[in-house]
Amino acid sequence: MGDVLTSFPKKVPPLRSVSEVRTRRRANRGTVGLTTYRGAEPGLAGVRNAAAHGAQTITFYTGLLDRLSDDAAKGVIVHELAHAWLNEHVSPRSSRRREAEADQLARSWGYGRYLVALDAETTPV
Ligand SMILES: [Zn+2]
Repeated sequence: MGDVLTSFPKKVPPLRSVSEVRTRRRANRGTVGLTTYRGAEPGLAGVRNAAAHGAQTITFYTGLLDRLSDDAAKGVIVHELAHAWLNEHVSPRSSRRREAEADQLARSWGYGRYLVALDAETTPV
C-alpha cells in the first residue's frame, strides 16, 4: 500500500473521502478488494470535507490477497483506489462498466504493470 501511495501521480486530484482502509481474513465470493461508498450530504456540494464528498471504506480480503504476488496485490490496491477516485470525482455508482473504467484509470496513473500481474494470476468474474 505504501509503495503505491508514494508513487501516486501529483497531478491527480487527491482522494479525500476514503475514511477507512481495513482488512478481513475471509473472502466474500472470491472478492479480493471492495470499495463501499456512502453518499455526500445534500447541500454541501463544493465544501471540501469528508461530509461533502461522502465517506468510503476500502476492504481487502487477506485470505486471497496473501496468495497473490506483490505486484498482483498492488494491482488489487490500485484498482480499489481507482474505484474510490471515480466514486469521489466522477459519480458514486457501481456497474460492470466501472470495473474496466477503474482499471483504465489506474493504468493512466502509471500502475499498468500491477494490473497485468493481477490479470495473470486471477480469473476475471
Ligand atoms: Zn472493481
